[in-house]
Amino acid sequence: MVDDPGRHAVVLGASLAGLLAARVLSETFDRVTILERDSDPVAAFRRGAPQGRHLHGLLERGRQILEELYPGLSAELAAAGAPTTEVLVGSRWYFAGRRAHPQSTGLTSLLAARPLLETVLRARTAARPGVRLLLGATATGLLSDGGPPSGRAGATGTSTRGRIVGARFTRTDGAAEQMPADLVVDAGGRGSRAPAWLAALGFEPPREDRVNVDLGYASRLYRRRPDQLGGDRTVIISAAPGLRGGGAIAVDGDRWHVTLTGMLGDHPPTDPAGFEAFSATLPAPDIYELIRSAEPLTDPVPHRFTGSTRRRYEDRSAPPDGFLAFGDALCSLNPLYAQGMSVTAQQALVLRTCAAAGAGGSTGSAGLARAFHRRAADLIDGPWTMATGSDLRYRSVVGRRTPRTRLVNAYVSRAQVAAHRDPAVALALVRVINLLDPPTALLRPGLVGRTVWRGRGGPAAPAPVSRPSPVEV
Ligand SMILES: Cc1cc2nc3c(=O)[nH]c(=O)nc-3n(C[C@H](O)[C@H](O)[C@H](O)COP(=O)(O)OP(=O)(O)OC[C@H]3O[C@@H](n4cnc5c(N)ncnc54)[C@H](O)[C@@H]3O)c2cc1C
Repeated sequence: MVDDPGRHAVVLGASLAGLLAARVLSETFDRVTILERDSDPVAAFRRGAPQGRHLHGLLERGRQILEELYPGLSAELAAAGAPTTEVLVGSRWYFAGRRAHPQSTGLTSLLAARPLLETVLRARTAARPGVRLLLGATATGLLSDGGPPSGRAGATGTSTRGRIVGARFTRTDGAAEQMPADLVVDAGGRGSRAPAWLAALGFEPPREDRVNVDLGYASRLYRRRPDQLGGDRTVIISAAPGLRGGGAIAVDGDRWHVTLTGMLGDHPPTDPAGFEAFSATLPAPDIYELIRSAEPLTDPVPHRFTGSTRRRYEDRSAPPDGFLAFGDALCSLNPLYAQGMSVTAQQALVLRTCAAAGAGGSTGSAGLARAFHRRAADLIDGPWTMATGSDLRYRSVVGRRTPRTRLVNAYVSRAQVAAHRDPAVALALVRVINLLDPPTALLRPGLVGRTVWRGRGGPAAPAPVSRPSPVEV
């Protein structure tokens, strides 16, 4: 329902975050304009989303939210060729070199390659009433109302500070334009320039938290025959406690999308022979055995990810009214844990709630942005702690290790081993990883004893790697 027909939101970026932000804001704003730098249609090689060339697992919580926002999405993707499977049936998930106990979990893996997912979401979002997508429009700055950058920002939305009232952008022909807005949403990804634009207007840029992991990806597509991997559709081989991992997923177009990963500088090579040799060193042989006999369709392509980054816009002093950051622009997580799209989807629900509360006009877009950043920070705390806490297992990852971090990591290592032997532990673990349950679910009465007892014996020794093995701390 549109309560204020005059309200206009501008969203910067039309990748997953921009599309989801536009989708939920179209319920409460009269008009939503998305500015996207890329002018091409979505393709595997879209410049603005190079991660589209690499494996993109959609966690079950993310799939459920996308289904809520775009009813029938899973069926539409399946009809477009995206296979589905159960998380532990028809799928092989290896933790610490051992396969998690195969069993029915009720959780679905929707195996759409990222370009297909984005194509469908883009079409469905652009078809919403009031939504307009401008391609080839590069945001170059923010517009303020000229009010003072510092001042009192009240919790109710009353503020004596200046506020953001629109965005500047350029067209592909170089023409510079301005677009007024009641709300500007930064969905420009982890490389967003919004902190610099805010600083240029005199506002304080957000504090940033970082945990560097120097992660390398290399990915390659292969032709898929249904008899390969015994008919299974997914293999995920987690790296920890070693540096190397990977995944092979059956995606639309009868293809295997294979990604190899290496932490802390131990990156997979991109020459075909090196790629295959690297796959032979993973903690489980399945990917190597698959690609050894499969027909490659593309050459391996690399991607480098320096580390998880979180911008603390929830700090009281940081963002002016009329502006909010969303998706990876707010928090970009180590992609090894496949949380990014699902955490963005969770943010979309928070934004929807905050926008609905602000739509009555008592706090307007000012209260909306502040409420969103506060609630999104609470939401992000969990996945951030899971991802960075896990990375802190490696001694050379720099970050604050509390006794709790060490205890949690020791317990999760046990749970990963126990998941091989014990279906209850495997189910609890995959539900937490899929963001369906909080990590504390692993501490349920009855589960702790099984985890500690059945997780004894430590992880299988990882396959040899060319660099010194990291040490768990
Ligand atoms: C290698 C890799 C693997 C990943 N694997 C997974 C996975 O398995 N599962 C998962 O859930 N997540 C994964 N992610 C994370 C996931 O891709 C993101 O969390 C998710 O897509 C949300 O990103 P975003 O839309 O915020 O930003 P992005 O996808 O980075 O998009 C930013 C958009 O903004 C546009 N843009 C940038 N600057 C401007 C500007 N000035 N003006 C206009 N437009 C602009 C860009 O062109 C782009 O379209 C992975 C990420 C990487 C890097």
